[in-house]
Amino acid sequence: MLSDDNKKARYDQFGHQAFEGGGGFGGGSMNMDDIFSQFGDIFGGAFGGNGGFSGFSGGFGGGQQRRVKGSNLRIRVKLTLEEIANGVEKKIKVKRKVQAEGTTYKTCSTCNGSGQVTRITNTILGRMQTASTCTTCGGAGQMIDKKPADADAQGLINKDETISVKIPAGVVDGMQLKVSGKGNDAPGHGIPGDLLVAIEELNHDTLQREGDNLHYDLYVSISDAVLGTSKEIDTVTGKVRIKIDAGMQSGKILRLRGKGIPSINGYGKGDLLVHVNVWTPKTLNKIQKEFFEDMKDDEHFAPKPEESDKSFFEKVKDMFS
Ligand SMILES: [Zn+2]
Repeated sequence: MLSDDNKKARYDQFGHQAFEGGGGFGGGSMNMDDIFSQFGDIFGGAFGGNGGFSGFSGGFGGGQQRRVKGSNLRIRVKLTLEEIANGVEKKIKVKRKVQAEGTTYKTCSTCNGSGQVTRITNTILGRMQTASTCTTCGGAGQMIDKKPADADAQGLINKDETISVKIPAGVVDGMQLKVSGKGNDAPGHGIPGDLLVAIEELNHDTLQREGDNLHYDLYVSISDAVLGTSKEIDTVTGKVRIKIDAGMQSGKILRLRGKGIPSINGYGKGDLLVHVNVWTPKTLNKIQKEFFEDMKDDEHFAPKPEESDKSFFEKVKDMFS
């Protein structure tokens, strides 16, 4: 189990801001502001439940002023397996819409600053009052008074910004991290949108990922398998030399504990599974051929699989105990 302390530590690391109250559903001001809120299953009920539901009160209750939220920015970031294994801080260049200097606002004349317009309609149940978002100001309650010439209709200008994003170890391809408040600014006194960072995992030359475990295909010659040797293999933290015992069978899986990917939950690390493949030469010279011809009927060369060799998928050898 992930302890609350641990959870909180990670949570704080990504800068949680208390969500803004009084929001409307869809208006977007109900904001989890948690980079991990996308990881539904991780923080599950603890934080995730807050988002949608309490937001309803703003939308249907009427009367409360909405805080308009700026639009989100989306960006893709490509990570190597090493970066995923170790965690990484990425500098991401974004073009954000920010409030132009010198823009001033005045109270919206349509809704008188409430951000909502109320309508009375006659229904079979009697007169009903319904509230809807003011279309003039988009719910902000304010309109642009003056703005610089280079600003858009909402008083925003484009600005290049470099944002540093801490990516925790163990992220998975397709996962989305949220950096609160680093999206586009909202017009008026709204709150900025978020920067959504989608994770893309780059293929590794020699390592294959399966959850938190990694797989590596190792090829050894017949003589190395017979006599034993040591081989250097790739890991996400650099090369490691492993021992190949004399009499190594093809298909053997060597498990290097903790040499996989750290769990995003903080539960420890996966393993690196080294699949041993004995390489059979496709051609032989005369002497080699004679040697193998001689061994053809040699009882010592006849396969005698033991229980442990038959079930090599279950029986894995721990090299790093
Ligand atoms: Zn208005």
